[in-house]
Amino acid sequence: MSENLIWHHVTVTRQKRAAQNGHKSAVLWFTGLSGSGKSTIAHAVEEQLFHIGCHTVVLDGDNVRHGLCADLGFSVQNRSENIRRIGEATKLFVEAGLITLTAFISPFCADRDKVRELFVAGDYLEVYCRCTLDCCEQRDIKGFYQRARAGEIKEFTGISSPYEVPNDPELILDTDQLTVDECVQKVILLLRKQGVIPSD
Ligand code: ADP
Repeated sequence: MSENLIWHHVTVTRQKRAAQNGHKSAVLWFTGLSGSGKSTIAHAVEEQLFHIGCHTVVLDGDNVRHGLCADLGFSVQNRSENIRRIGEATKLFVEAGLITLTAFISPFCADRDKVRELFVAGDYLEVYCRCTLDCCEQRDIKGFYQRARAGEIKEFTGISSPYEVPNDPELILDTDQLTVDECVQKVILLLRKQGVIPSD
C-alpha cells in the first residue's frame, strides 16, 4: 500500500516548533480502570499547562469514540485497533508540537507497548492511574459498573474483561489516596524532570 508514497521534506521541524513554543512536545498516556481518574487528571493538567502558556490537546473516549473510532466496539481486536489509531493520531499531534494528553483505559500491555514504539525515548510518558476496583466501583460516576455487574454491558474492563497493570510506567498515581491536585503536581513535576517544560 505505502510503496508509492514519498514523504515530503519537513522544513518546520519539531525543534523549531519547540523553540517557538517555549516547551517541547510529548504524550502523557494515562491508563487505568474506568473511574480511576484519567480524564479528571488529564484535563486538570491541561488547564495548568494552558495557564503557563503551553500548547496542549486532550484526547479521551468521548472525542474519539464518536469520531475517529466510531466504527469500533469493545472486543479485544477492536480495542487494539482503537488504541492503534489513537497512537497514530497522538504521534501527529506530538509532531505538531503539542503536549498531548490521552485518557483511555488502554487495558492491554501489548497495545500500549506498540504505541510506545511509535515514539523515541522520552516522548511517551505512561501514567498509571492506580485505583482499586472497589474504589472505582464506589465512584461509578457513569453508572457503568452497576450495569456491567447486571450483565447489561459486556466485556467491561475490571468486571468481565481484563486490565493488565503497566510493567514500567513513567509515573504511578494512587488516585484512591491522593487528591486531584496532588496528582496534577506529580504530573507537572514529571514534565519538568523530562525537560518537556522548563523548570521554574
Ligand atoms: P476515568 O477517566 O479514569 O474513567 P474520571 O476522571 O472520569 O475517570 O473519574 C474519576 C472520578 O474520581 C471523578 O469523579 C473524580 O472527581 C474522582 N477522584 C477522586 N480523587 C481523584 C484523584 N486523586 N484523581 C482523579 N480523580 C479523582
